[in-house]
Amino acid sequence: MRVAIDGPGGAGKTSVARAVADALGVECLDTGAMYRAVAAAVLRRGVDPADGEAVAAVAREVVDGIEVAGNVARLEGLDVSEEIRGAAVTESVSTVAANPDVRAVMVARQQAWAADRPGCVMEGRDITTVVLPEADVRVYLYAEAAVRARRRSGESGASEAAVQAALRERDHRDSTRAHAPLQRVAGVREIDTTDRSVGEVVEEIMQMIEGLPGSDRP
Ligand code: C5P
Repeated sequence: MRVAIDGPGGAGKTSVARAVADALGVECLDTGAMYRAVAAAVLRRGVDPADGEAVAAVAREVVDGIEVAGNVARLEGLDVSEEIRGAAVTESVSTVAANPDVRAVMVARQQAWAADRPGCVMEGRDITTVVLPEADVRVYLYAEAAVRARRRSGESGASEAAVQAALRERDHRDSTRAHAPLQRVAGVREIDTTDRSVGEVVEEIMQMIEGLPGSDRP
């Protein structure tokens, strides 16, 4: 059972993905945390996030040293869980993630991770389209911008207006980049999480899973 979840920031992907993974008894991968870890490595090395070749070299160098599990992210053995949620990484991550060489390295690692497991839930921006286009269940989560900003400002403590402006800019970059942009595609179920709880969204996804041919889930 493979579940692929995409959507913009603050749509609820991480909470929903974790709960679905728990319900299925499989592991969950937050691919955004992996791109954030590359951005952290770029900043730590003093590399300009817009310097494509240098950034690609950093990604190739650190890819095997990135470990993401639950809330914890490690970069070459160092706990960077807090650092990757900080302003500096958040501001530079979508520039780093627009780099096609970085994406190639990350997609290969993510596909290998999935291939090693009997089932999984993976969430990000290109999971339904590039990383796991053959997943059993593919979902696109979205929500009104103000609600997404409220959720994120609750997490970070920053003002809602500032978070909304930053989110809007990052979403724009992620959706308009040339390589593997965030996009809605045919065959992917779209779920509006604006007025819905995590539990309700999880329930909808579990029903999709139960409705699959050959599902032995009650
Ligand atoms: O999900 P999160 O907001 O932590 O993702 C951080 C950034 O990583 C996104 O804004 C996007 O630029 C990038 N990303 C991506 N592809 C993914 C997951 C995240 O480009 N599959």
